Amino acid sequence: MQNDDLELINSQTILRCIEHDLDKPTRAQIAKYTGLSRNATSVITQKLIKIGLIKELETTRTGRGRPGTPLVVDTSVWKAIGTAFYSGTWNFVIVNLLGEVLMNHFIPVNSRDRKAIVDSLIEGLNFMRSHCPRKMIPAFGIGAPGLVDHKTGHIFRADDLGWKDVLPIKDIIEEKTGLPAFVINRYQANGVAEIRYGNHKNSHNMVYLGIGTGISGLIYLDREPLMTTKYRLGHMVIDPHGPMCGCGQVGCLQAMASELALVEFALRQMKLKPGFLRKIRKEDLNGQVIASLAEEGDIDARTCLNYIADPLAIAVSTLANAIAPDEVIIGGPLGDSSNYLVDCIRKRVHAHLLDWQNEQISISQGTQSYFGPAIGAATFMLEQKLELILNSANAQ
Ligand SMILES: [Zn+2]
Repeated sequence: MQNDDLELINSQTILRCIEHDLDKPTRAQIAKYTGLSRNATSVITQKLIKIGLIKELETTRTGRGRPGTPLVVDTSVWKAIGTAFYSGTWNFVIVNLLGEVLMNHFIPVNSRDRKAIVDSLIEGLNFMRSHCPRKMIPAFGIGAPGLVDHKTGHIFRADDLGWKDVLPIKDIIEEKTGLPAFVINRYQANGVAEIRYGNHKNSHNMVYLGIGTGISGLIYLDREPLMTTKYRLGHMVIDPHGPMCGCGQVGCLQAMASELALVEFALRQMKLKPGFLRKIRKEDLNGQVIASLAEEGDIDARTCLNYIADPLAIAVSTLANAIAPDEVIIGGPLGDSSNYLVDCIRKRVHAHLLDWQNEQISISQGTQSYFGPAIGAATFMLEQKLELILNSANAQ
């Protein structure tokens, strides 16, 4: 291994220690935690301060030992751009290194056409880049729809948009903007933001299930995301006699419990029962409207959410039986906004599982705001910030 590689790995270890593992650590605490020498720790932290990634707080004396200087993330210098496509809109954010949103922007597309969606993305990225304050991490984080390979940055397919062919979205962005792009599925991005900024510090093995027009999720084992396209939580078969899914199978979770399945059920009921969901005009019907009516206690809206709670509870129980997570987080646009839906799922899962399983699993609601997937996409890119900053400095 080259010295430069070793220094990069040690720098990443120390940065991670300050960002995640320890709370405002001093150099001595970092050296003890990482096993690096005091001297190496001191040299690397100095370098990270100079780059603008961390900063010193005021020196404090605790106990009788030498006073220590706490180190924290510096949020004043570097900014990151992230975006995600959901509900027919590209949502863009500029965040600081703690994922706090400094600016947002959105471009509605209202089309499933690949070119229209990609053109709007490039337009938005250029707009955000021209408005980014201070220093911008020279890359973009992208939360894309569909089945995304985060290594190649290809969207293999996006069933809810009817895309069946490979879209090399990373290559297109890099060619049009001249900057690297880090692409992840939009609901997985929301999961990244949830695990990083939500209140899940006590859980080790987690499943994040994002429910929107599609369903996708992310499995965390020992707090590390299982980043592969080889599992697709939205396409677990729930009912072998169920409805056709865009993927070609029948009875997938996505076909039975996505926002589209919810709206289709509501429309069927409206046709069958005059007066059903009378508070909503047919043309205004969407998952958010149903979710907010259910929160107000509307019986019909609650009937609709119960309809998708059944397949979701089967999916969560199956995951519990297969991999025993400490926590399952129900997120995505629908999960984040519907307390009622999460309650329904929780009750059903508890009925499916054994008592001792129920004692060891919690089912929680996603906490991310509307911009969660875009924040998560930026956060996914920020995992590589050190290399990106060093590479761009070397290139100058
Ligand atoms: Zn499917």
